[in-house]
Amino acid sequence: MPPKYSFIIPIYNEEKTISELYRRVSAVMDTLDGEVELILVNDGSRDRSLEMMRELHQQDPRVCYISLARNFGHQIAVTAGLNFVQGEAIAILDADLQDPPELIPEMIAKWQQGYQVIYAQRTERRKESWFKRFTAYSFYRILKRLADVDIPTDTGDFCLMDRRVVDVLNAMPERNRYIRGLRSWIGFKQTAVYFQREPRFAGEVKYTFRKSLSLAINGLVSFSRVPLRMSTYVGLISAVVAIAMAFLVLYWRLFQPHSPLTGFAMIAIAVFFLGAVQLVSIGILGEYIGRIYEEVKGRPLYTLGEVGRSRKF
Ligand code: UDP
Ligand code: MG
Repeated sequence: MPPKYSFIIPIYNEEKTISELYRRVSAVMDTLDGEVELILVNDGSRDRSLEMMRELHQQDPRVCYISLARNFGHQIAVTAGLNFVQGEAIAILDADLQDPPELIPEMIAKWQQGYQVIYAQRTERRKESWFKRFTAYSFYRILKRLADVDIPTDTGDFCLMDRRVVDVLNAMPERNRYIRGLRSWIGFKQTAVYFQREPRFAGEVKYTFRKSLSLAINGLVSFSRVPLRMSTYVGLISAVVAIAMAFLVLYWRLFQPHSPLTGFAMIAIAVFFLGAVQLVSIGILGEYIGRIYEEVKGRPLYTLGEVGRSRKF
């Protein structure tokens, strides 16, 4: 008998949070109206996380663990978990308890009302740095304006999805997986539940600035072609400026031969400006071409080191 619910938790160096995480998640699991499997995905942790996961797997037959052969990143770890789930409703949450497991019964209630995707929307982020709050706030709003699909603001990967949605996600072959975007792209009946984001329970943030930036660029490039078009627009605007300047220089030559503006400085500025526009455009182009390259190589999304299947399901 497969379980009714599956919970997926990606774990990267979370030895300090795992015990408390298990305590709170299993308390929620015990209250539900059906069997739950807990899938812990080890994303190449270098601390005691994997050992702790093995121990939990020994103790509790509902626990399954998947260990990736190295650190593949959060989105791929979640994808690996999604490939393994057996439940009819599938929840994804972070290991650091910033996504309160106690919200899951509320999501399940919505699922029972007939929604297929229930995503958690943050109303407030507490005690995170102003930099994180500001960049996250701006990013989600820019993404909303630029993306082809309607990606709700301030939502992360914390959600509950119906089996059908997960099957579609699993059938999507793309390597650059911005799960919250793909989830919106799929459609079906979606709704939000609201929560306040508490600070991390323990340990360091695993999303370094670089990883967050890369996730943000991934989200934008995977769901919008506006950046490409923007380089066309900037190119066109520069062309108009250049033509206007040509007329201006001609005018100065004819009527004001001693104008100080026609010298070296102007040429230097123009050269640097155009150089910058070209390099930025090539960079944007590169982001898209790099992604084509990644897709074309067709490598598997991850390699598996070790799997401890749940002994119950
Ligand atoms: N994580 C992961 N692989 C990574 C980075 C993070 O599996 O390379 C996991 C991490 O263990 C946590 C979740 O992804 O469960 C979110 O990470 P974190 O809390 O550090 O980032 P936040 O989303 O709070 O900025
Ligand atoms: Mg976190």
